[in-house]
Amino acid sequence: MTEIIKKLINLLGEEKVKFSQEYFEKYGIDWYKEIEPDPTAIVFPKNENDLKKIVLFAEKENQKLVISGGRTGLCGGATAANKEIVVSLEKMNDMKWISEKNQVVCQAGAITDNVKSFVAENGRLLPISLASSSSSSIGGNVATNAAGSKFIMYGSTKDHVSKIKVMLADGEMLSLKKEIKKDATGPNLMELFFGSEGVLGIIYEVTFNTCEQPKYLENILIRANELDSVKKHVLSPEIKINISSVEYWDENCQKLLGDDPESTYFIIVELSSNSEEEINLCLETLAEKNINISLLNSKQSDEIWSKREDLPVGLASMGAYKMDISLPLETLENFLKEIKQLSADEIFSFGHLGDGNIHINIVSKNKQDELVSEVYSLLKAHNGSPSAEHGIGQRKKEIWSKFEDYQDKYKLLQTLKKSMDPKNILSPKVFFE
Ligand SMILES: Cc1cc2nc3c(=O)[nH]c(=O)nc-3n(C[C@H](O)[C@H](O)[C@H](O)COP(=O)(O)OP(=O)(O)OC[C@H]3O[C@@H](n4cnc5c(N)ncnc54)[C@H](O)[C@@H]3O)c2cc1C
Repeated sequence: MTEIIKKLINLLGEEKVKFSQEYFEKYGIDWYKEIEPDPTAIVFPKNENDLKKIVLFAEKENQKLVISGGRTGLCGGATAANKEIVVSLEKMNDMKWISEKNQVVCQAGAITDNVKSFVAENGRLLPISLASSSSSSIGGNVATNAAGSKFIMYGSTKDHVSKIKVMLADGEMLSLKKEIKKDATGPNLMELFFGSEGVLGIIYEVTFNTCEQPKYLENILIRANELDSVKKHVLSPEIKINISSVEYWDENCQKLLGDDPESTYFIIVELSSNSEEEINLCLETLAEKNINISLLNSKQSDEIWSKREDLPVGLASMGAYKMDISLPLETLENFLKEIKQLSADEIFSFGHLGDGNIHINIVSKNKQDELVSEVYSLLKAHNGSPSAEHGIGQRKKEIWSKFEDYQDKYKLLQTLKKSMDPKNILSPKVFFE
């Protein structure tokens, strides 16, 4: 047992400090498996007092901390490969309902699905819909500003946050809020922590506004060989207003899921509204268009949505290199055609069609690096973003130099980091070298 571990046990008690290989393998790494975990210890604070002790300890003992939620991140943000202490928020998972405001207050380690179920028990909806929601944590969702399949109607995690509590690298505890829409009290500094990936502070409590649950839901399936006409009809303003998800996957993904592709693209659209009439009107309007559309019953919808959720998992098990990009909707079709020309068989694409956010998965042992750079070159030509919802972590740091448009943002981030965490205690390998 090292001196640091002895001191940690002294500080927190044995139960909250783990240092076996088994724990390192489980808690030292996220879904991106290319970085070998090598932490010093894993600590499990139970409340903000524990958290404060850990942060002050790190400052005094010159230790680095990596903040860990559900470890479903895809960019190595929660991976500790340089003897950092991993701070797992797993035990900080309480939640409470504020009925007069229809808000849920949760500790950052609460699992997304548990919070969503709790909100549903109170007759409301928390529309954060990720395929990883059975494991991802609320703090992780805020720290990556996770989006997911319902972005088109409900936006990303940050759009539901009313208040956060954050611990800074010097142990100071901040409570930041944006409770009313019109609030010109300087910049909204709560925003600093959305997408901050553990680098600027530890989010330990989050208050969410919740939404009304829609009374009516319908799912439709569209098969198409090109996306432009689907986009034109489905994303027309009168339909779009009732779309809560529109997801597509290509023919390679269809084959992977065991289907015989009848068309290049398989598109599932979820319509939701409080008015049955509105939904029927959308369906009637779509039925008149020249597109191959089928209405799904609830069993068929469940099956198809579960296939959609299986896709990232299936591709991960094939060792796919995952890219998470977004493009202006107008250029999406051309971009996908250009991608196919790079390599028709080795590139799998699926994603959130309504937001132009696509997940390119490259399954190629020999040409992976070459294909990744070619995809990036095409993306630049189309003015896209190299990280739509998965963040930067330790894995995508090359983006700062490869995409010139992000260099000013990088400089400002460095300035913020230096002033908020001068000893570089929090997630030192995320974003920065
Ligand atoms: C199968 C699969 C499907 C996915 N689908 C989507 C999707 O549809 N949309 C999407 O946006 N993402 C998706 N993701 C990515 C991932 O699930 C999200 O980014 C998720 O929000 C991460 O939450 P987490 O608790 O697992 O975070 P972790 O992986 O534990 O951490 C992610 C980052 O946040 C930091 N962090 C974690 N907790 C805190 C905290 N309390 N305070 C400060 N920093 C913290 C970590 O240090 C790290 O940098 C998917 C991942 C998988 C594996």
